[in-house]
Amino acid sequence: MPADSMIDILISENIAGAPVDALRSKFKVAFEPDLWKNRKALTEAISGARAIIVRNNTDVDAALLRAATNLIAVGRAGVGLDNIDMKAATELGIVVAFTPDQNSISAAELALAFMMALARNIPAASADTCAGNWNRNRFMGGTELYGKTLGIIGAGKIGFLTASRARAFGMNILAYDPFLSEDHVFLRQLCADQVELDELLSRSDFVSCHVPASPATDGMLDAARLRRMKKTAFLVNTSRGRLIVEEDLIEALKTGVIAGAALDVRRTEPPQPGELEKLPNVILTPHIGAFTVEAQERVTRTVCADIERLLAGQPALNPATPFRLPQRKA
Ligand code: NAD
Repeated sequence: MPADSMIDILISENIAGAPVDALRSKFKVAFEPDLWKNRKALTEAISGARAIIVRNNTDVDAALLRAATNLIAVGRAGVGLDNIDMKAATELGIVVAFTPDQNSISAAELALAFMMALARNIPAASADTCAGNWNRNRFMGGTELYGKTLGIIGAGKIGFLTASRARAFGMNILAYDPFLSEDHVFLRQLCADQVELDELLSRSDFVSCHVPASPATDGMLDAARLRRMKKTAFLVNTSRGRLIVEEDLIEALKTGVIAGAALDVRRTEPPQPGELEKLPNVILTPHIGAFTVEAQERVTRTVCADIERLLAGQPALNPATPFRLPQRKA
């Protein structure tokens, strides 16, 4: 890349707003919201950049990090780090800064919205009524959240916010999270029981997933696990798609193993439309858990502030790597 086309910050996904404009006033910023789709162009564009800001679509793997010889910082506008090779970034001395907490409320509220929409069959009732019908009897038989049991898989920040809101609806809480201590605030404050995964699945009326993507969570909910759930139970996933074996979920939804499911995240994104999209007892959204005005303002502000700090030689406030200042090695 010629020297005059060198950039300070590459933004390879749709991240905009006042904090990005403020970065533009101080640094040379290249805003390429569709760049993540074109690996070759991405590799070329990043070669001269000192920092890159991404959401979860840009595959920031070891090869890309090595090709970016000037790179000292990766800003992840969000929480999940599964699209970034953290080991390679750490080895290269590149700081990865992310935005913990900033979108947690939005993700938790979507989980609650899914639970209510499933319980009252809102998407189908709305589509039917918008088609000109008034089929009250067809939509008889919804359930209340009150008095039901919510099983939380992954009792971290979003799991806690989801469960605490569910308590306000009068739900009982079960938690599966092997890293939770017996006196953890999640259990004490929410009067929740810590149980093994199989027990959580068999006792819950709603199961909501809030674990990170990892080898341990990949395929965690397969046919055998889904069969442990109540036939009347609903499954909600706003965490990461790889947690669920989608073919097994489709079979479970088709054969009445569970009553319904709502998914914001998928194994591959965007997914190839298939059987899941045609099922009547499923709600699907395109990974919008964090896409509220408030969460995006917080996320953008937080990630831009850390990128500015790192480029100015100051430590990151929210590092995901073990260090706050770059220690770039060739
Ligand atoms: P967090 O780190 O605060 O909580 C994750 C919890 O999962 C931790 O308590 C951890 O102990 C637990 N956990 C880890 N491995 C586990 C395992 N094998 N079994 C059971 N529990 C396990 O994370 P968070 O901020 O609450 O985010 C949770 C998930 O939500 C992440 O996958 C994140 O990427 C996703 N997320 C999605 C959206 C969206 O747009 N849909 C938005 C924000 C976050």
